[in-house]
Amino acid sequence: MSAEIAGHWINGAHSPGGRTGEVFDPATGAVARQVALAGPAEVERAVAAAAAAFPGWRDTALSRRTRVLFAFRELLDAAKDDLAEIITAEHGKVLSDAQGEVARGLEVVEFACGIGHLLKGGYTENASTGVNVHSLRQPLGPVAVISPFNFPVMVPLWFVPIAIAAGNTVVLKPSEKDPSAALLLAELWKRAGLPDGVFTVLQGDKEAVDGLLDHPAIKAVSFVGSTPVARYVHERASAAGKRVQALGGAKNHMVVLPDADLGLTADAAVNAGFGSAGERCMAISVVVAVGEIADPLVAAIAERASGLRTGDGRRGCDMGPLVTAEHRDRVAGYVDAGERAGARVVVDGRKVEPDADGSGFFLGPTLLDHVTPEMSVYTDEIFGPVLSVVRVDSYTEALALVNANRYGNGTAIFTTDGGAARRFENEVEVGMIGVNVPIPVPVAYYSFGGWKDSLFGDTHAHGTDGVHFFTRGKVVTSRWPDSSHAGLNLGFPRND
Ligand code: NAD
Repeated sequence: MSAEIAGHWINGAHSPGGRTGEVFDPATGAVARQVALAGPAEVERAVAAAAAAFPGWRDTALSRRTRVLFAFRELLDAAKDDLAEIITAEHGKVLSDAQGEVARGLEVVEFACGIGHLLKGGYTENASTGVNVHSLRQPLGPVAVISPFNFPVMVPLWFVPIAIAAGNTVVLKPSEKDPSAALLLAELWKRAGLPDGVFTVLQGDKEAVDGLLDHPAIKAVSFVGSTPVARYVHERASAAGKRVQALGGAKNHMVVLPDADLGLTADAAVNAGFGSAGERCMAISVVVAVGEIADPLVAAIAERASGLRTGDGRRGCDMGPLVTAEHRDRVAGYVDAGERAGARVVVDGRKVEPDADGSGFFLGPTLLDHVTPEMSVYTDEIFGPVLSVVRVDSYTEALALVNANRYGNGTAIFTTDGGAARRFENEVEVGMIGVNVPIPVPVAYYSFGGWKDSLFGDTHAHGTDGVHFFTRGKVVTSRWPDSSHAGLNLGFPRND
């Protein structure tokens, strides 16, 4: 963590190279270190290492591969506080939140420990007389994982353990805003017994990404980030003949029906709207208040939001800073625009007095009421601590609003009416749905992914989708010679 330059990890060792960029401590505003930014030479070295390691890892016995996964799980668990500290220092989210991120990543490692069961094929005896058929799944080769700044540990762990357990080698390109956690993950993999070259960290920006997307040795790309980049990655990597899953941005609505439990709903809105300063792809950014619950709900959210302590994530605050000064200014600009367009600023985070030293990138929790669908604060993904309340008259109007939105990552309904919840689950065009659960991130053995502009490709992350993505299938039809099929017959084979 004290390293002056967060470099690459190639062939099981730290490796410098390329241009450099600055990494900030967002709570103080100070430059904490530099990050290496790969150019073509570093991309080539990283991919060559991953390609060279592939045949050996692919052919390593499943039992041995699994043992590495179990060892990595133990080491990750032991290092969880160190990882959380690194996350807080470079991302800014408060320590308890960073610990939660590591815990959710760990769950995917535990899922991947069961890879033996997940890779089993099917077998059919006597599909035709004397003929048996079986299926198998094999790894793809070197694959690339490109991750966003907001979950520097959890998002890489959505993919890396499953890809490695299935016999692939992985080049991870972390966000250049918080590059250090990936290097500790690399050290843990090595200590777990993973052979050199199976896991590589390539630090960098667009240049590194483009190098991976175009490289013929990279067989698949798992991307998570903003929608414009996700769309671009999907198109460019697909054009290069690769398998691609590209998860994009979000605008998650929380529909609150008049019969919802007011206190629990307000708690949920505050937790899901302002946790991690709103820098979560599953954050609630829009509360859709149906009917007469709007006034008491806005009052209850405002009361809770006003009491939150914003500051340095290492000081036990509720909410930390935003990731960069530019991002903080951009989010504050959306609040200004919303106010100018007629939204009522109920809680104003622009006036925050943070509990922190230096000049960190802070914006306090902000609550906007009477937001309407044409305002930029509604149409755009803001990715900050800004909760917008849109008032509607009916469930039907609320549903139409959610379904008209270009994003379809997550949504939630708050109600005590089971029939309404069931109808919402059936009718809403969104990939992940919560019923009285504001951030419905699926557990590791289910798959994570949105609809519409929140995901390009057709496979979601982790769970059985993840295993499917990182393997390809074969079907073998076999017959052992015996006298029953002697003789010439040029007809098309029939199954009888
Ligand atoms: P981003 O799109 O700016 O960056 C993501 C990755 O792409 C980084 O590794 C970055 O270096 C690289 N990148 C950036 N610009 C690029 C370009 N022009 N060409 C090629 N590569 C480029 O996203 P971010 O700001 O790091 O992360 C926040 C975004 O990620 C939000 O939109 C959020 O909703 C989204 N996100 C989505 C999910 C999901 O599961 N759908 C999860 C987490 C974050």
